[in-house]
Amino acid sequence: MSRENTRTPDLIIKAGILLTMNHGLEVLRDTVVVVSKGRIVDILPEDRDQVSYEPAKEVLDASGHMVLPGLVNAHTHAAMTLFRGYADDLPLKQWLFDKIFPAEARLLSPESVFWGAMLGFAEMISTGTTCFMDGYFFQDQTLLAAMEVGIRGLAAQGVIDFPAPGVPDPAKNLEVGEAFLKEWAGASQLVRPGLFCHSPVTCSEETLGEAMEICERYEVPLQIHLSETQDEVNEIEAKTGKRPVFYLDELGLLKSTLVAAHAVHLDENEIERIAETGVRLVHVPESNMKLASGAARVWWMTQAGVLVGLGTDGSASNNNLDLFQEMDMAAKLAKVSSGNPEALDARTTLRMATIWGSYLLGLQDEIGSIEVGKKADLVVLDLDAPHLQPVYDPFSLVVYSASGGDVRDVVVEGRILYKNREFVDLDLEEIKAKVREFTRPLKTGE
Ligand SMILES: [Zn+2]
Repeated sequence: MSRENTRTPDLIIKAGILLTMNHGLEVLRDTVVVVSKGRIVDILPEDRDQVSYEPAKEVLDASGHMVLPGLVNAHTHAAMTLFRGYADDLPLKQWLFDKIFPAEARLLSPESVFWGAMLGFAEMISTGTTCFMDGYFFQDQTLLAAMEVGIRGLAAQGVIDFPAPGVPDPAKNLEVGEAFLKEWAGASQLVRPGLFCHSPVTCSEETLGEAMEICERYEVPLQIHLSETQDEVNEIEAKTGKRPVFYLDELGLLKSTLVAAHAVHLDENEIERIAETGVRLVHVPESNMKLASGAARVWWMTQAGVLVGLGTDGSASNNNLDLFQEMDMAAKLAKVSSGNPEALDARTTLRMATIWGSYLLGLQDEIGSIEVGKKADLVVLDLDAPHLQPVYDPFSLVVYSASGGDVRDVVVEGRILYKNREFVDLDLEEIKAKVREFTRPLKTGE
């Protein structure tokens, strides 16, 4: 561990229990994390040497509490907080085509997407997520909201071969997408632009192929929804004679820069092909359960060597963005669907929500674990709550006992965004009032 930097650090975090999520999943007790210019410059025992770093400009005292890497929500649609609870308990097709698409056509504007995304990012920060992977429309607004909040992530412009919010002419969907990448590449240290093809059913062969080419040119991942329902698989099979993964293979899309969410209905051959080609998957268990889409065979995927991240989906199908709850559900759903209580153990599940998720954004050298040289993106979990005692196994505690409500403090790139359960800079009341204002037409039927 480096001891070179002995000048006054920007931030010192005192951790009772430090879950590093490094390669060996090391757990350190009574530790000090030293942060300078947004990066972790040292990690050392609390009773030794820290005098060389005092006084720090700021100290976050989490003695007696747990510090872990900020969570990575690898599949979400932040602005869909606007539709939280608007349409529940429906089959996916009816939910999407009869309720969500018409509501989006009615409500979405640059302003409503900005405030919906602000609410989404405020929720993510307050529940321990420090990095997101998002796909939606009017994504310049999602990027601006993320920059305003100070969260890290990737906001991808939605591509669909139907008239869409902000893109009334589907013939221009890729033109709009490329212009978005051009405008926002390099605009922010924390937030990058990307593209998001809605699905192999709602995008043509040409659209999918060209979207991948554009993403390769701009060196950004291409996101897609894949095999979320059996209907989708049937539709692709009827159209192409192939299962969806082999259809995408034929189009040249199976690359490590493809990030496919859901992947509920993959057979063994498809999982094997995904593993061979290095495609990354995102497990979205709560949304899949709520829409009765099924249970992705995530245990087999991880056993086959596929890198799998964890996502909440939008809050219209979840209905929150709490990744702690998502971890709990993921681990339990894997057990019930495989009939094996050893499937998706707590350590694997926490890897999905941290270090594995970071690979999906190409940020594995920067975030996802607490190690010297990495960015200081971390979360303090308050261990005072009765349901978080005693601590036998900290991984089990995080996955099976904690929820987002136990998050006390959140740091992104060395900056404290959330302290003692309050936002340092954000005006949450303003955000909530704006969302109430923008969602009023749906509530009153005006
Ligand atoms: Zn989604």
